[in-house]
Parts: sequence; structure tokens; C-alpha cells
Amino acid sequence: MTDLRNKRIITVATTGAWPTKKDTPNVPIEPYEIAEEIYNCWKEGAAVAHIHCRDDEGRATMEFRKYEEVVTLLRTKYSDCDIILNITTSGGIGLSEDDRIRPFYELKPEMASYDCGTMNWQHNSVFENNPQFLEKLGLLMQEAGVKPEIEVFDPGMIYNAQYYIKKGILKAPCHFQFCMGVAGGIAASTKNLVFMKSVMDEVAPGSTWSAFGVGKGAMEIMYAAIAMGGHIRVGMEDNVLYRKGQVADNNMQFVARAKRVIEEFNCEVATPSEAREILGLPAR
Ligand code: ZN
Repeated sequence: MTDLRNKRIITVATTGAWPTKKDTPNVPIEPYEIAEEIYNCWKEGAAVAHIHCRDDEGRATMEFRKYEEVVTLLRTKYSDCDIILNITTSGGIGLSEDDRIRPFYELKPEMASYDCGTMNWQHNSVFENNPQFLEKLGLLMQEAGVKPEIEVFDPGMIYNAQYYIKKGILKAPCHFQFCMGVAGGIAASTKNLVFMKSVMDEVAPGSTWSAFGVGKGAMEIMYAAIAMGGHIRVGMEDNVLYRKGQVADNNMQFVARAKRVIEEFNCEVATPSEAREILGLPAR
């Protein structure tokens, strides 16, 4: 058996809810663009794909047929690609709970995001994940055999996870995504990442974790997470700039850089099958 402690999982979040073709023409928006970009990111070393879709106007959506199209393309046209699929359950802000549930419940990706609390989003709206919704979401994920990727935007959300683990809504060992640098949540700094991890170790020992920083903290969080034994997420959902003043050409550019950093640190990039082992997902 290979030693997995030295392996780092790269998750790519190609699209997200926000960047438009006006912000950057390079963001994949159409289902065929998203599927092709995920395929190319897998070739560069991404083991997990976090998927959002857009409606015909390019706005954030949980429209089922869009998710179905992306997943079907990946399972047919790109069937040699064994990347782990992780479907969003937020989609954006203010989408209906039923619509947020349907894609993961019917398409049965191996993972789906689970945003573990409500927050003020970017000082302009409410990202609502109320207690009733979180209980329902956790139980439906168990029913569908989908592993939650517990997205936490501040330490309070890690304590929410502790509550849901105790209630049996979330099953240990859990996987956390530390989402840092979003206005309304915790800032993206190494000091804060160390604190987030220490809270997680205390309340959910044995969990795996990944992290990303939005905006200027992106590189700091990537280097710190790799050094601290965590996994990382990159992509245009979180950053459209490759570096200050330079718009990224595509998502593959972010994956390639993450791979270089991981290897320079004397770690190795986890393949999807190694990532399954690390995350406790059934082998395929
Ligand atoms: Zn997302």
C-alpha cells in the first residue's frame, strides 16, 4: 500500500457562481465547456472537480438539466476520466432548497458540497443554510451515498459540524473545505488557517481537510495548506486572476501551478484513486 501521507489532493472549481464572460472570457460556462475543462484539469493532475452550472444567461443556477449535461458528458464522452465529481448544493445565493438538492440526489456524484451555516455574503446578501435545511441535506446525502464536503467559511461553522456529527446528520470521518477570504467569513491568512485546523482537530478528530483563499490570500493559503498536510482547491470559482493584474488563461493553469508547488515541497499529487482512499470513498 502506498503511503498516502505525502499525497495532496487538488480540487478544481472551474466555474463557481460569479465570474461572467465579461469578467473573463476564459471562464467555462456552457456545460460542454465545463466538462471539457474538467477533463483537461484531470489531465493536469486534479483529482476532484467541484461543479457549478450557469443558466442560458450565464447566471448561477441549480437547473437540473445543466448539471445532468455536465455529468453525462464526463461519464460518456470523457469516460476515461476518473476524476471525483463534487456537485455544489448552493449553486449561488437565494436558490430554492429543492433545486439545490436535486442534482446530487439524482446524479449521485461521489461528493457534494455542504455549506455548514448561514452567513452574510460579501456585505450584500444572505447565504442561507438554515438548520432545517442542513439536517435534511445531511440525511439525503447519506441516503444517496454522497460524501459531504463540509465547506466552512469561519470557525463557527466547524462547531456547527460538530453538532451535526453528534446528531448523526454528518458521519465521521468528515472532509472539510476551509473557504477563506470571502467577505463575511474569515480572512485568508496562515494564522487563521492554523486556527481553523486546530478547531477541526478538536471537534472532529480524524477528519481530512482542504483549503483555498479567495483574492490576495490565495497563494498564502495554498502554500500553508500544503505545508500543514492539507489538500488544496484552485480554480476560477475562487480566483479569476492568475496573479495580480494577470487574468488566468484557463483553469488548467491553476492546476499546473498547484502541482508544481506540491512537487517542490517533496509531496506528490494524489491521483483520483488515491484521493478516494484518502477520503474514504469506495474504490472504482
Ligand atoms: Zn462552489
